[in-house]
Amino acid sequence: MFTALLLFSFGLVIGSFLNVVSFRYSEEKNLFHTEHLGGRSKCRHCEQKLAWYELVPVFSFLLQKGKCWVCYKKLSWQYLLMEVAGGLIFLLPLYLYNPIIPNSLFIIQSAIWILAFLTFLLIWSIDFRLYLIPDELNLVLGALGLVLADYTNLYGQFGNFKGSFLGSYAALFGWRSNIWINHFSAALIGGALVGLIIFLSKGKGMGMGDLKMMLALGLLYGWPDVLFIFIIASVIGAAASLALMLFHKKTLKDALPFGPFLVIGAILVFFWGEAILRSYFNFFGL
Ligand SMILES: [Zn+2]
Repeated sequence: MFTALLLFSFGLVIGSFLNVVSFRYSEEKNLFHTEHLGGRSKCRHCEQKLAWYELVPVFSFLLQKGKCWVCYKKLSWQYLLMEVAGGLIFLLPLYLYNPIIPNSLFIIQSAIWILAFLTFLLIWSIDFRLYLIPDELNLVLGALGLVLADYTNLYGQFGNFKGSFLGSYAALFGWRSNIWINHFSAALIGGALVGLIIFLSKGKGMGMGDLKMMLALGLLYGWPDVLFIFIIASVIGAAASLALMLFHKKTLKDALPFGPFLVIGAILVFFWGEAILRSYFNFFGL
């Protein structure tokens, strides 16, 4: 319990920091540039520098009733959302703990998935605001994928019925004799899928950032998980566009960024990949 509280509080602070980074980010400079990462936090409206008691995650937001104390402008709900998301992400080790896997693999898995989910959080917020996914973030995801694949392989956690979030369903889709072939094929197929859509829609539906993100997700999740991330993202993305059109918030011409939906797909597959497939097969009586 104490560990959970400590992890969660630490995650709140990291989430709060990533939120500031996502607001500051602009395309001209690298994500890791000091202008994005350093310096005192300011109100986004009146530029008032924030005091220490305005920097406490969640509490400051609630204490200030979601408003800036100087200019009374409303603070974005994104502050609260990203802080809580950061907190929850740091609880991942509790979810991943499994007495069957060796401790060293558990530590590596925890570290990699915490970093991957934090990257998802940044992709979500930046793509939502700017309709672009920084290359740096896709590189981080891809690199995490290579490290994870290497360790999964080393500890013998990959095989016909192992090493996929789809459980035994993964075996139906083949390519399970070698983890490197599996993960690299996943990247290539994922990239090709988005490439095809860019080609067919003449670049209106998706962009190069989405293509690179699919390459990275392929390296991280492997085959066939990446395919299901893509299918889930497309279905939810299409439903969201339709809903927005029905409520006249958007027309067919304005596209939604696809990155946030890929993030949703990746999270759903991570937690419920096997359960989703099972209910799908049950529904069709297979
Ligand atoms: Zn202000």
